[in-house]
Amino acid sequence: MTTPALVSQVGDAVDLAPFTTLRLGGPARRFVAVTTAQACVDAVRAADAAAEPLLLLSGGSNLVVGDGGFDGTAVRMASKGLHIDGEGVLHAAAGEDWDAVVAHTVSAGYGGLECLSGIPGSVGATPVQNVGAYGVELSDLLRDVDLYDRRRGEVRTVPAAELGLGYRTSVLKGTDAAVVLEIRLALHRDGLSAPIRYPELARALDVEPGTKVPATLARDAVLGLRRAKGMVLDPADHDTWSAGSFFINPVLDATQVAVVLERIRARVGPHVPVPQYPGGPGRTKLSAAWLIERAGFSRGHRGPGGRAALSGKHTLALTNRGGACTEDLLALAREIRDGVAARFGVTLAPEPVLVSCTL
Ligand SMILES: Cc1cc2nc3c(=O)[nH]c(=O)nc-3n(C[C@H](O)[C@H](O)[C@H](O)COP(=O)(O)OP(=O)(O)OC[C@H]3O[C@@H](n4cnc5c(N)ncnc54)[C@H](O)[C@@H]3O)c2cc1C
Repeated sequence: MTTPALVSQVGDAVDLAPFTTLRLGGPARRFVAVTTAQACVDAVRAADAAAEPLLLLSGGSNLVVGDGGFDGTAVRMASKGLHIDGEGVLHAAAGEDWDAVVAHTVSAGYGGLECLSGIPGSVGATPVQNVGAYGVELSDLLRDVDLYDRRRGEVRTVPAAELGLGYRTSVLKGTDAAVVLEIRLALHRDGLSAPIRYPELARALDVEPGTKVPATLARDAVLGLRRAKGMVLDPADHDTWSAGSFFINPVLDATQVAVVLERIRARVGPHVPVPQYPGGPGRTKLSAAWLIERAGFSRGHRGPGGRAALSGKHTLALTNRGGACTEDLLALAREIRDGVAARFGVTLAPEPVLVSCTL
């Protein structure tokens, strides 16, 4: 049963749109906001005991909720708690704001998280898709997590190695099988960044790729680059009314990539360089943004109805221009996905978690 003293907010038919960065989505039949790990466990246990569909929601920055809403209980995690121990290990509660945590570590003289600056949302969601940016992924530092395992009905500590962390994925993504309650990250105690791997960031810092720089400098540079792309939330800027990158960069095996590259060259010409990155053993990652642009969709492209559009700053972000509904956004997403597939034979997959809707 829920513990009323620990549950800060309970309501019926609560509109979910204001709880998402896209400002989209219909109501949840029931909404519970919890401010402690125990209250969260209690709320999830109560929903499970009642066989009630459950939606976990934190910052709502990686969620696309259908216009019909969610026919079940939405539990919003807002637990607080943050400290760095004597070994340089960060302990952070799931409901803490991720970027505030990064800022805290950098200003306290620790490195490691600076390249993940400016990512919206909560601490608890970061392992869910193994957040990554500018050449760093959470898995580079994640030691372990405390989670409530819904199948076993127990809270347990799970080492990072058992979370199946990969490129924008983990065993937690899209399953709601477990609720992350706390994470622990091994920070760099020298106050230096991870080696700067991302060429654009190295250029902004005016250093050779592979160089370490003071974490504060890297954070400032990352925030500058992200702002220019509309990737730092700003309520006044519709280019940031998004779920970040809407499509994952496609990762193809050797056979697939050969076929796709031949098709790309036939379409855009043999001398146009195609961005390609290592995608794991025997695999190549292509740039979804490049494919979208080369398929003829430019920044600011408006979808059917005109209320959802590609960001004016970044082709990979699908945005609500104000007054859009989820179906407008999905219509735009289908147009982009189908356009890229028709031109290059690659089917782009969405990065956000789709709730009560499909692409
Ligand atoms: C402008 C913008 C820029 C972005 N840039 C990046 C980027 O650079 N890199 C990147 O990786 N992502 C990026 N994102 C995506 C998003 O910010 C991250 O995925 C973030 O970690 C989501 O956190 P959240 O709290 O908003 O999660 P939500 O959107 O609330 O939830 C996302 C998923 O995680 C689940 N979840 C939430 N909390 C928990 C929990 N405590 N335990 C278990 N499951 C949970 C939800 O059920 C849902 O399935 C960006 C998004 C936006 C809007």
